Amino acid sequence: MVLDHHRLSPLVRKTYSPKAPRGPRPVELATQRIDKDPADWTAEIKNFALHNEADMVGIVPMDPEYVYEGYEINEAWVIMIGVVMDQERLNTAPDTIETAHSSIEVGEQYNRAARVSRNLSNHILEQGHYAKAYAGPYASALLMIPPAIAAGFGELGKHGSMISRTYGSSFRLSAVTTDMPLLGDAPDIFGADDFCSSCQVCTKACPPGAILETKQTVRGVEKWYVDFDKCIPYFGEALGCGICIARCPWSRPGTAPKLAQKMTDRRNRRAG
Ligand code: SF4
Ligand code: SF4
Repeated sequence: MVLDHHRLSPLVRKTYSPKAPRGPRPVELATQRIDKDPADWTAEIKNFALHNEADMVGIVPMDPEYVYEGYEINEAWVIMIGVVMDQERLNTAPDTIETAHSSIEVGEQYNRAARVSRNLSNHILEQGHYAKAYAGPYASALLMIPPAIAAGFGELGKHGSMISRTYGSSFRLSAVTTDMPLLGDAPDIFGADDFCSSCQVCTKACPPGAILETKQTVRGVEKWYVDFDKCIPYFGEALGCGICIARCPWSRPGTAPKLAQKMTDRRNRRAG
C-alpha cells in the first residue's frame, strides 16, 4: 500500500524528524529596546526575511479571528512569510518509497519556513521587541491563511490553500507575531476565486475526496471548504501530501502571472 511506503522511507522520516533543520531556538529579549519609525522597521523586517530564505513577506494587524479558540495571542502585528515549493518535485505525488520527492519537498519547505520565522523572530528579540515564531505543519495558536490573505499573499483556493498571482499555489507559510511598531499591507484580489468556481481539478485529484465542489457557509460566511477530517489522516499517514497544490493549474511554473492578468482583465470588463 502506498501510504505504508512513506513510513518506510528514511528520507521522509528524516525531513519530519525533531532533528530536521528548523532554525535556532528563541534568544532572550534584549534589555535595551531600539526605537525606529514603523516605516523603517517595516522595510528592515521585510529585507531581513527576504535575505534569510523567505520568498514572500507581508504584515497585518493582529485580529482575534486569526487565533484558534482557547488560545490567546497578545502581540499587535502578524508578519506572514511564504516559501515557494519546487513544482517538479511536488508534481511526482503520489509518492512511492523509491520516489518520495513530493513528501520530502513538502517537509523541507515547512522546515525552510520554520527557519525564516525563527531567525526573524530572534532578530526582532535582539532589537528589544517581543516576537514569537509560528511554523507548520503542526497546528499552533495562530491560523495562517486568514492573515496571509489580509497581508496580500493572494486568495483562498478551492483546495483550502492560497493562490498567489506570482507563485500560484506552490508555497508554504509561517509567521512571526510581534509588538514591534510596523505598517500593514492590503489584500490582493485578482480573480482566483472566480477561476475556482469553474474548475474541479483539485476536487477530482484529492485521494480521500476531502475537497468539496461548492462553497459552504461556515460561521455565516460562504467559502471553499476542505473536510480536514478526511485530509489530515491522509496527510499524516503520507507524512505530507501536496497533490491538490501540485495539480492546481495556477501552480504550473510561469502560469500564475498570466492567469492572474487574464482574470483581472475579465473582472475589469465586468465592472465596466
Ligand atoms: S493535501 Fe492531499 S488529502 Fe489534503 S486536500 Fe490536498 S490532496 Fe486532499
Ligand atoms: S485546482 Fe482549480 S478549483 Fe482547485 S484550487 Fe486550483 S484553480 Fe481552484
